[in-house]
Amino acid sequence: MNSRTNAPLDLATNTRSTSGSSRPVLPEDPRELLTALDAAVDPDLEARLVAWFATPLKVLIAAHGPGVAAAHAARFQHRVILYAPLYVTSACLNDCSYCGFRRSRRGRRVRLGVEEALREADCLATHGHRTLDLVSGEVPQDRFIDQVCELCSRILEDTAILRINLNLGALSGEQFDRLRAAGAAAVHVYQETYDPATYASVHRHGPKRDMVNRLKAPGRALAAGFQGIGLGLLLGLAPLCSDLARLAAHARSLRADFPAARIGFSLPRMQTAGQDPGFVTPAPVADDDFVKAFLFLRVEFPDAHLTLTTRERPEMRDALLPLGVTKLSAGVSTAAGGYTAGARASVHQFSIQDERPLADISAAILAAGLVPASH
Ligand code: SF4
Repeated sequence: MNSRTNAPLDLATNTRSTSGSSRPVLPEDPRELLTALDAAVDPDLEARLVAWFATPLKVLIAAHGPGVAAAHAARFQHRVILYAPLYVTSACLNDCSYCGFRRSRRGRRVRLGVEEALREADCLATHGHRTLDLVSGEVPQDRFIDQVCELCSRILEDTAILRINLNLGALSGEQFDRLRAAGAAAVHVYQETYDPATYASVHRHGPKRDMVNRLKAPGRALAAGFQGIGLGLLLGLAPLCSDLARLAAHARSLRADFPAARIGFSLPRMQTAGQDPGFVTPAPVADDDFVKAFLFLRVEFPDAHLTLTTRERPEMRDALLPLGVTKLSAGVSTAAGGYTAGARASVHQFSIQDERPLADISAAILAAGLVPASH
């Protein structure tokens, strides 16, 4: 991280605005693009992160816990939104070595039709959910996007679900346009890692190998009119300080280009279930460092949504509630058809560490002095 420039990067259109004019400056080489990203933000960020991770967790919580609680009350009124992922398909064009949906893995793949997916949504609504994340392997074909558009409209018309977020990969601007028009509310595109060498080694085949395309996808979603954008890292892939610094830089760059954007973060940790047999987690993240990373984002981005998934154990999820979690998944299946098809469901993307039903997780939120919210 070095020199700073005030000209915001426009990650949606591949230009940097300079005093009323635009010129193409974002290269297609991820290293050059990341250098441009670094230069656009706080040059001290990575150094501050190194100091942050060198500080004992207890000291950080004592210093920042009260401020985090006050900020959560002021900005989110103590609310924690509960949601569930709905996997539309377990098919994927990519072969990410860490993922249970990777193309090279054997196992039953399912692609739900609109009616089957509607039954899944209705099942979740019956259990009390009002917010869904529609998730799929990466299938960026227009025919698939047409189906998801129809599904979004039907879910909002025919079920009690009120809000749909999307986690479908690095789609085109035109595809994001159509999904926005179909009623989806927000988009998540997690970069997984901002380290180009690691990114290239774990994304072995498929469109996700194009790191630059993925870096620009959140900007395309915001340019299409989505107000909410979720960014994230897959913790365990690359050294934490540099990846967190670039995640923060990416968020600030998007916020400079789209001041009304509501930024959110998720920090899923690597799991062993479903990975390629030869895969070894390159940079495992211990519990204390996981909490420190979470707290860092909470302090740096007090108005951002912070999501905590069922990849984490119940004790960890409950312990993080007072530190500013705003979105929590509950009652989750990570298989396409997992809520209604039972054994006929597909392979799972990852295994679940917190299997408590929605009611138990709502009770845990109340016990932490917070308010469970449905949307
Ligand atoms: S991480 Fe996403 S893109 Fe990669 S194999 Fe899994 S579902 Fe596909």
